[in-house]
Amino acid sequence: MEHIGRCLLGCFASLSLLAACAHGSAGPEPIPTERIASGKAAQPQGTAAAQPAAAPTPAPAPAGAAATPFAALAPELVAELVRKHGEGEGPRIERGVRQVTAQWRDEDGDKAALRAFVLEWFVAGPRGRDELLGRFSPALEQLDGHLVEIGRALRSWSELELGPQRPVDELFAAFDAGAHLSEDLFASKLAFVALLNFPLASLEEMAAQGKGWSRREWAAARLARRFALRPSGAALQARAKAAAAAESYIAGYNLWMHHLLAPGGRRPFPKGVRLLSHWNLRDEIKADYADPRFGLEKQRLIRAAMERIVDQSIPRSVIDDPRLDWDPVANTVVRAPEAETEVPPPSQGKRPPQPSVSAEREPDARYAVLLDDFRAARLTDKDSPLAPTEVDRRFQFDREMPEERVVGLLESVLASKVAPRVAGLIRARLGRPLEPHDVWYAGFLPRAAHPEEELDGLTRRRYPTPEAYKRDIPRLLSALGFAPAKAKEIDEHIVVDPARGSGHALGAARRDELHPSWGPGDKPHLRTRVGARGMDYKGYNIAVHEMGHNVEQYFSLYEVDDTLMAGVPNTAFTEALAFTFQNRDLELLGLSRPDARSERLRVLNDFWATWEICGPALVDTRVWKWMYAHPSATPAELREATLAIARELWDRYYAPVLGGKGSGLLAIYSHMINAFFYLPDYPIGHLIAFQLEEKFKAAGSASGAEFERVTRVGRLSPDLWMENATGSPVTAEPLLRAAEEAVRAEEMAAQAGAK
Ligand SMILES: [Zn+2]
Repeated sequence: MEHIGRCLLGCFASLSLLAACAHGSAGPEPIPTERIASGKAAQPQGTAAAQPAAAPTPAPAPAGAAATPFAALAPELVAELVRKHGEGEGPRIERGVRQVTAQWRDEDGDKAALRAFVLEWFVAGPRGRDELLGRFSPALEQLDGHLVEIGRALRSWSELELGPQRPVDELFAAFDAGAHLSEDLFASKLAFVALLNFPLASLEEMAAQGKGWSRREWAAARLARRFALRPSGAALQARAKAAAAAESYIAGYNLWMHHLLAPGGRRPFPKGVRLLSHWNLRDEIKADYADPRFGLEKQRLIRAAMERIVDQSIPRSVIDDPRLDWDPVANTVVRAPEAETEVPPPSQGKRPPQPSVSAEREPDARYAVLLDDFRAARLTDKDSPLAPTEVDRRFQFDREMPEERVVGLLESVLASKVAPRVAGLIRARLGRPLEPHDVWYAGFLPRAAHPEEELDGLTRRRYPTPEAYKRDIPRLLSALGFAPAKAKEIDEHIVVDPARGSGHALGAARRDELHPSWGPGDKPHLRTRVGARGMDYKGYNIAVHEMGHNVEQYFSLYEVDDTLMAGVPNTAFTEALAFTFQNRDLELLGLSRPDARSERLRVLNDFWATWEICGPALVDTRVWKWMYAHPSATPAELREATLAIARELWDRYYAPVLGGKGSGLLAIYSHMINAFFYLPDYPIGHLIAFQLEEKFKAAGSASGAEFERVTRVGRLSPDLWMENATGSPVTAEPLLRAAEEAVRAEEMAAQAGAK
């Protein structure tokens, strides 16, 4: 699952536009980056609900509204507008005025200016409001669309193979012409015109009423929700600073594995291996299943080190220092003997001239960094009356699913009766009792039927250049189930570029001219890496995935009825759609589809990975809530609270299956420290992907038409989008059911084998 959580606040970007995936194989999560990478302004991706015109209901005053000096003015402004437009407009007036006064600041004008503004800009009657919406829709499409194009052009020299790079390329790549768009829309009063005339629905209203809204009401909802947050410059700066510091702390958190001593002073890891916590450590555990001699010993050592990182008993001196030997079980530190040191001394990382041979523990730096994130996030609280905590903002604007729903989904996976049965299969495969690190068991994935060199040969012959891939797109799309005419149409709207990096998909945001003089529309770009010898299999596999993003980007821009609704509900959806392409890459090369057993093992692998990540997601949720309940906590108090939460969840859900009562392993994820409450996105992404894949599998040869049908509805709420796509809201049911069937089949096969 490759995600792109990237946006101004880390809490509200809609990124179906930019699908830049870090492509790994099994890992459920790459490092999220917090930045705006497209020219598109960060958009709260929610909906503001335009309400049924017939029966508008007054919304409760947004929390925090009373805090602004202008909010007190609301009653008299409402009374004046009602006198002007009549009682029938009363509820709309009331809501619009409250939405405006909640966000109005001194710099927007004094009380007289506010009064003049609402009197001038409130639009009475459905026809006037429709006309107003009809201006916002193409205007914002032009703004967003051209900003995407500008950003894409300025980043070209950094992102594409266009000859030698120059130092100034980086500056152009970092330049963001749309950085102040949101604030400019407030300063110009356009944002206030939208807030005055279109209801800004809460997530609860979307969930309760959204099903009954017309498309127009949904479009109005998306417009108003775009202006739900107005972070101050100080809040944004504080956040960027905390994010950068956290990123730097995490990026420097490496262990030199040759210097981890097992009992008896053995060194199971070779020289020179430097692993970043937690990603590389976790992936090393996964890889170690293939090492029958030292694998288990290595895995136990890594687990011991992880526990000490979480509880901060790790000696500060051993972090990223290959001159020291550390026994993580006994927690002792000694100077590494000369014969065991890396030659020449590694240049990566920063360390003092002389190593400090001391077991003095890391003094809760991990939790101090997390507290700094929290304090920075709190500065945004007062700028977001609709969602006054980081926790609210993540659920309200990123996930657009209520907290209780998300937690309920996670718990349904954790408590599933399938987990112990899958564990039984793993135990049989490993031939030993399970241990806590087996939460990262990765041995279900069947051995590749075709060696990578063979696949490289195939793809290099077929795709010597990016142009060759471009020419093959219509055939690929036909094979993926699109009718020939549709395949041709999509192909005409995808640009293929030679990428410097591994490849990504960059969406467009401007489809075509409302007026001919505005010029032709923009196209999604597929960035793909083709080496001197042609496209290798890895590049091809990524290109097919990115092409899935491009097709989604094309439909969800060009075929939605209103560009205020362009896109998909959140990144998990575009990723899931891209995977439905990627999973068929071998078939597209003319090789055989995986057999039934491989499919079963893939399901078991998916289930186990989802079950694993649900725990850290719940830890992240509870820790953020704990910080809000204890805003002046010290790092040591946060450490204790985090450990208590992680241990409680481990003991409840994992210890009965894997042992290790009291383990703090669930708190090892680095995202917890640098990603501002991001972890629940992963398991929810797994569930969404699985649910959609099942749907497309069922659609069979009609899957192209089905892909088009589900993507052209645009950005509804996640549950409504999924209901339209599959008949049910987002649910764990398909994954749990498929896992149960796979377990049963595997158990029966084992019994048959035993007879
Ligand atoms: Zn992707």
